[in-house]
Amino acid sequence: METVFSKIISKEIPAKIVFESENVLAFHDINPQAPVHVLIIPKTTEINSVRNFIAGAHDKIIGEMLSAAKTIAKDLNIFDSGFRLVINNGADSGQEVPHLHIHLLGGRKFTWPPG
Ligand code: 5GP
Repeated sequence: METVFSKIISKEIPAKIVFESENVLAFHDINPQAPVHVLIIPKTTEINSVRNFIAGAHDKIIGEMLSAAKTIAKDLNIFDSGFRLVINNGADSGQEVPHLHIHLLGGRKFTWPPG
């Protein structure tokens, strides 16, 4: 499905990219909710959310996305202080973009439960 994220992957829309590998892209969120707010996405457009994640077929990509999160947290100096990873799925979560993405948030203290 074409979304704003597929246009970022194809470079039709610019983004501040912080990490890129064969299968994963990560860039700063346009509307940051913390001093560090990065979106980590698969380059494939076939996974809209965890709801259409296919066991077996997609296991590798989620591992690569978490590995990217660790690398980026170190690169952006939030690894030691701590950070939050969020994946919104569907209407109740507030998901806006139907392309699987991990929010990597850090640089401030977060509350629990989340809003
Ligand atoms: P969701 O609500 O789907 O979990 O998160 C989507 C995120 O994408 C939001 O935090 C929003 O600010 C971000 N976003 C939407 N459009 C763009 C864009 O064009 N560029 C970037 N960098 N982020 C975007």
